[in-house]
Amino acid sequence: KADIAMYLAKKSGKNNFKFYVHEQGSLLDRKFMLEHNLKQAIDHHEFYLEYQPKLELQTEHIYGVEALVRWKHPELGVISPAEFIPIAEESSLIVPLGKWILQEAGKQNKKWYDAGIRVKMAVNVSAKQFEDPHFVDTVHQVLSENQFPPQYLGLEITESVMQNIHQSTLILQELKKLGVKISIDDFGTGYSSLSVLSKLPIDFIKIDQSFVHESTTNPIAASLVKTIVEMGKNLHFELIAEGIEKKEQAEFLIENGCYRGQGYFYSPPLSLAEVELLLYKNQIWASIE
Ligand code: C2E
Ligand code: MG
Ligand code: MG
Ligand code: MG
Repeated sequence: KADIAMYLAKKSGKNNFKFYVHEQGSLLDRKFMLEHNLKQAIDHHEFYLEYQPKLELQTEHIYGVEALVRWKHPELGVISPAEFIPIAEESSLIVPLGKWILQEAGKQNKKWYDAGIRVKMAVNVSAKQFEDPHFVDTVHQVLSENQFPPQYLGLEITESVMQNIHQSTLILQELKKLGVKISIDDFGTGYSSLSVLSKLPIDFIKIDQSFVHESTTNPIAASLVKTIVEMGKNLHFELIAEGIEKKEQAEFLIENGCYRGQGYFYSPPLSLAEVELLLYKNQIWASIE
């Protein structure tokens, strides 16, 4: 059925495909098609990474980048990870895809490290990938194939991995032995308990962008940010704010003790060529761990 949809879409011009599936009311067809195509997409080199700079807010020096995957689908154009990562998770294709992402980010990080660029690479890891029995081996392999100090690789996981707290703790301990850094992404949107969080070997907490966006307009969001920063300090986690879009938001964060961040105010995710231009031009790195 998806093949027929594809055929009709091709016939009527590529740009009409989305319209066509919507007309049919069959978003399911699009999902089915993406799931079906995901299997070959790695072999067909349809994925690529973009890199969003992470900065020390007070100096605006870059100290790292976050790798964000994109899928250049031959018919549908660039597809957002927000759409295809959940599909890859459902079908377990996230495991080979996530491995490719880690290897790609690892290779890139090695090139930059060897060129004297001192920025840390962070890679997003989905819950299913994290819980895969070979995950720690994959990280180990990436580190041994690309010789850079392990603290130059960070893994961003979400609070959802804490649903299986016993297993997650063991995996995190293994990862910490390898020397990589761990962040909790989208913090504040999940349901992790503070007592659990305090026992985990975590380095960074990323304040979810929904709080950051409203931090200067909504007093509740503002006090949530303050509370998260306070908690982070007490539990010895470093704080990172994501989704900084305005100068006022950056100022609010600095005033309240959050000194790292990323967001459109500084830079959107960049292509490899763009980020390299920035990194090679701007030879001052924030000297923070
Ligand atoms: P995330 O890890 O929380 O990444 C932040 C998302 O916010 C990215 O969207 C980024 O482009 C976007 N963003 C950054 N700054 C701003 C800003 O100032 N304002 C706004 N409105 N958005 C901003 P993106 O690239 O579409 O990724 C969405 C999500 O997809 C990610 O959220 C992450 O959960 C997932 N994802 C992306 N790449 C990967 C990957 O390689 N592996 C896995 N497992 N998940 C990934
Ligand atoms: Mg992330
Ligand atoms: Mg996030
Ligand atoms: Mg997110």
